[in-house]
Amino acid sequence: MPSKDRIAYFYDGDVGNVYFGPNHPMKPHRLCMTHHLVLAYELHQKMEIYRPHKAYPVELAQFHSADYVDFLHRITPDTQHLFANELAQYNLGEDCPVFDNLFEFCQIYAGGTIDAARRLNNQLCDIAINWAGGLHHAKKCEASGFCYINDLVLGILELLKYHARVLYIDIDVHHGDGVEEAFYFTDRVMTVSFHKYGDMFFPGTGDVKEVGEREGKYYAINVPLKDGIDDASFSRLFKTIIAKVVETYVPGAIVLQCGADSLAGDRLGCFNLSIEGHAESLFIFLKVTGGGGYTKENVARCWTVETGVLLDAELPNEIPENDYINYFAPDFSLKTQSRNKENLNSKTYLSSIKMQVLESLRLIQHAPGVQMQEVPPDFYIPDFDEDEHNADERVDQHTQDKQIQRDDEYYAGDNDNDHSTEDGT
Ligand SMILES: [Zn+2]
Repeated sequence: MPSKDRIAYFYDGDVGNVYFGPNHPMKPHRLCMTHHLVLAYELHQKMEIYRPHKAYPVELAQFHSADYVDFLHRITPDTQHLFANELAQYNLGEDCPVFDNLFEFCQIYAGGTIDAARRLNNQLCDIAINWAGGLHHAKKCEASGFCYINDLVLGILELLKYHARVLYIDIDVHHGDGVEEAFYFTDRVMTVSFHKYGDMFFPGTGDVKEVGEREGKYYAINVPLKDGIDDASFSRLFKTIIAKVVETYVPGAIVLQCGADSLAGDRLGCFNLSIEGHAESLFIFLKVTGGGGYTKENVARCWTVETGVLLDAELPNEIPENDYINYFAPDFSLKTQSRNKENLNSKTYLSSIKMQVLESLRLIQHAPGVQMQEVPPDFYIPDFDEDEHNADERVDQHTQDKQIQRDDEYYAGDNDNDHSTEDGT
């Protein structure tokens, strides 16, 4: 069992209070429900809970263009009618509406993922969880698919300060296009996305033939799937591919985007995974974020079960009393079933996808090396908001810990192999 201080969990209740609009499928309230279920199962006693810092515009601009960050900062529901051109330019509107406290919402979920990366970099934990993060569609200069700021890219950039190679795995039902695009030309990040592909399914990218370009050729992996994939076929494919990826690429850190819209019965998804099938992807990880997930009681169930798996905690199937208990009617049980839905992924199809992916991996001769002489600063700005005392104290400790520089944090050749299988759970 991992010791309590080895798992860091990030949560800020304010993130669950924003409202995308009456007909919008993204309900940040699912994050409150998840957190209350985590508390009801007393999982908070087994890990360190942190309130993330609100990421500063300058931190967001490590990936995003400064003008886009600035616009997100300035725009409000009341003023948006004055900025029709900018709204179109930054793809804000229907899928990605402007709502009250939009920028703060972005600052919190991105701050959580950045903090998670920093704690990992400083070896203050082995696993870090930020269910509010995982907004994998956001692009450098525009919003996309309910995502405004790409916290995953920001977290990975942070991890790259300490790790020669970072592996990104995405099990959201949608292609992790924003993260793939950000690292498409580099071999320092390998992106692996399992997703529904075809039938005009959003975002439309993620063919098995998209493998990266230039230095990044063969360092983007796409596993396009059809409707109805079930636990057995998903798990077999996932484990085969990820085991080979880890063996070939030897990542220093792993980021897992755990979008829950790949569960059976999701409002937007079309896969047929049970929560247990979904949670099997946790067999390898370091940093875990949320992502999609649009049947909110199942999102809460899924991420609670997965928090439990990471903590090696047994969770009784009967959901304990909590503020949102009525959402779990009529059976009030934690586990969900997959459904009676046809699996359109034939054995032949899955095997051909697997062969193509393994062939790409074979073309990578060995894990690329990087000379890392100097670790850039973490971009902490000491001038925190008054209302963030808690976070402030944590940061002080964090900053203190960071002063002690350790030789083994630097990349030292191909033996740089501190991934989760060894010092995780
Ligand atoms: Zn999704």
